[in-house]
Amino acid sequence: MAISRRNFLKCAAFTAGGAVLADNPFVKATAKAAMKKDVKYIPSYCEMCFWRCGLVAKVEGGKVVKLEGNPLHPQSRGRLCARGQAGIGLLYDKDRLQTPLIRTGERGDGKYRKASWDEAYSYIAEKLTGIKKKYGPESVALFAHGNGGAYMGNFLEAFGSPNHSHPSYAQCLGAREVAFTLTYGQGPASTAERVDMANSRVIALFGSHMGENMHNSHNQDFVDGLANGAKLIVVDPRYSTAAGKASMWLPIKPGTDLALILAWINIVIQEKWYDREYLEKYATGFDELKEAVKGYTPEWDAKETDLPKQDIIEAIRELGRYKPNVVVHPGRHYSWYGDDTQRGRGLAILNALLGTWGRKGGLWLPPKVNLTKMKETVKYPKPKRESLGFGDYPFASAGITTEVRRATIEGTPYPIKAWFVIGTNLMKTMPVPGKTLEAIKNLDLLVNIDLMPTDMVMMSDVILPSTSYLERHDSLAIVTQKNAGVAIRQPVANPWKNVKPAWLIAKELCNKMGLKKYVEYKTLDEQMRQQAKLWKIDYKKLETTGYIPIPDSYHPYITEKNQPVFATDSKKIELYSEALDEEDMDPVPKYTRHKVPPAGMFRLLYGRSPVHTFSRSMNNKWLYELKSENEVWLSANVARRLGIENGEKVSLVNEKGLKSNVGRVKVTERIREDCVYVIHGFGSTSKRMTLTYGRGIDDAQMMSHYATDPISGTNGMRVNFVKIVKES
Ligand code: SF4
Repeated sequence: MAISRRNFLKCAAFTAGGAVLADNPFVKATAKAAMKKDVKYIPSYCEMCFWRCGLVAKVEGGKVVKLEGNPLHPQSRGRLCARGQAGIGLLYDKDRLQTPLIRTGERGDGKYRKASWDEAYSYIAEKLTGIKKKYGPESVALFAHGNGGAYMGNFLEAFGSPNHSHPSYAQCLGAREVAFTLTYGQGPASTAERVDMANSRVIALFGSHMGENMHNSHNQDFVDGLANGAKLIVVDPRYSTAAGKASMWLPIKPGTDLALILAWINIVIQEKWYDREYLEKYATGFDELKEAVKGYTPEWDAKETDLPKQDIIEAIRELGRYKPNVVVHPGRHYSWYGDDTQRGRGLAILNALLGTWGRKGGLWLPPKVNLTKMKETVKYPKPKRESLGFGDYPFASAGITTEVRRATIEGTPYPIKAWFVIGTNLMKTMPVPGKTLEAIKNLDLLVNIDLMPTDMVMMSDVILPSTSYLERHDSLAIVTQKNAGVAIRQPVANPWKNVKPAWLIAKELCNKMGLKKYVEYKTLDEQMRQQAKLWKIDYKKLETTGYIPIPDSYHPYITEKNQPVFATDSKKIELYSEALDEEDMDPVPKYTRHKVPPAGMFRLLYGRSPVHTFSRSMNNKWLYELKSENEVWLSANVARRLGIENGEKVSLVNEKGLKSNVGRVKVTERIREDCVYVIHGFGSTSKRMTLTYGRGIDDAQMMSHYATDPISGTNGMRVNFVKIVKES
């Protein structure tokens, strides 16, 4: 049977890489003789998402013809997901930015002229000098996602601004990090979540769309766990792909997750399912917790969550029976309802009661990594004004994008007049895109560093085209699965057209601005070699294998000799948080009811496709072929009442009357009646994204407001309601 590219991609999403280890680790010794002279196998690591799987590129006559998983790398284990394999589609995308561009028309009208790099740098330097003189260097802000953000962050520091901000914090996992840090003294992930699903007896997921959010080794662990007989409990208003594998699906009323978590905590305590010995040794605040949650009974919870009382009880008993070799997954995307840190605290406490932290099948302990730090050779100037990205949120641990945006609009506590944006399509990432446009109007300079002409890029004054991950070096990466290791990113292809890597852009901008003394290296490769030497890593070997393990780093489980360290004030797991109490915040989470959709409207939920990463992969022709548009999931009962047929054209209208693009409806039994669901990232407004322009419904466009988490300052974005309008 002939295999079309479409079928190939579908099959390839989870097939083992073909490379077999020999001297050259990726080519069979027997195959070497037959190999064409101009074929090379070069290891590196992927950036089609942030998971950083090791890859091996097959390069024929200078052209990348195949990407496969590096079998030596623990985050890929010989496999890449469909996006990872489709990296070639990004590398050779005809719509890619080719050369620096300077705006000639109005912002957003798409008129640009080509410029040399020097011209573009001079333009930026002149504007920045003016802004610095008039408003101070702190009036420049950075929005960053991905590796390149670190280099641009260095540029910002050299310039004298502390205003870095990260959508990965405010619009994604910030609240989780704050919640787990308050409880355990650290988060549950070091890039990859340390969830030991492969060895779990019971896995509980709260809205974690395993298999839809495709994080390679994490999904491999999930599938291994299920194959090993783990029971799966899925709490989700939608019958997700993961729910399809579950022994128990709890279709919870949206917005009531914390009610269920608190009721489970109460049941664990009342029915004595907790790990007494573990808590006595490692935790504080049990009595206060017991008192605080006693009102959250199963009867109360059943009314609140719209779940059968018996299911609520049976699910948590199942976790209790098999503790401590169970896990309530900490989740990743956290920006839901504005009480997200407290929801995270609830999940962290539940795991503590069941004794999962540092236990097989629970949350493994971070590997031990004793690598010497490079000496800091440059001292950046101390900014005169504090970062405004943390707002008034006492536990904010990274710059909040929406705070920078607010300051740009309001000019307080001081004005922001320039934005550098790298690797993030803010028009799709931040809620209330109208506010982003309002902020942009106040800017004297907007620079985007990116590969593709996204909606955000097309708002820029200056566009600086960057290399893809397949064309550049990036600082050596420390990989932390149960074992730790060092991975290399190195070019597998020559940079296309007139593009540059972010490290070089940052360096050249420093040079142009007279900030040369802050540049640490001639080339990044040179710095990586120094780093490897310091770490006693054989750089030549690393270039050949892509990954080198760090010896003696494997210590995932608690033993007499391997004790966990909790960097909280009490040096224990804090079930009751003194730190929150001191800030007059609830030391034990409390449930507050969220607004429900008015009659005729539905809560807008959003999620992921396994073949896309936000909006950034939508124009990739291989991935576009697999998923070119999203659909609006609508309950079959509601569809019947509204007279809407499966596949019919519809649009969404939100509470403010904003109307979405026209899309198709998916009528299904797999979703509750009070919500609708779309995959995030569709609906590009950039005409230069020729494949994906105007395709599908943009969930961000429907977000006319968000709920701010008072602890972490992150954005709750599942608080918008929409109605469905039939389109002819
Ligand atoms: S999960 Fe997929 S896209 Fe993400 S790094 Fe791994 S292979 Fe690349």
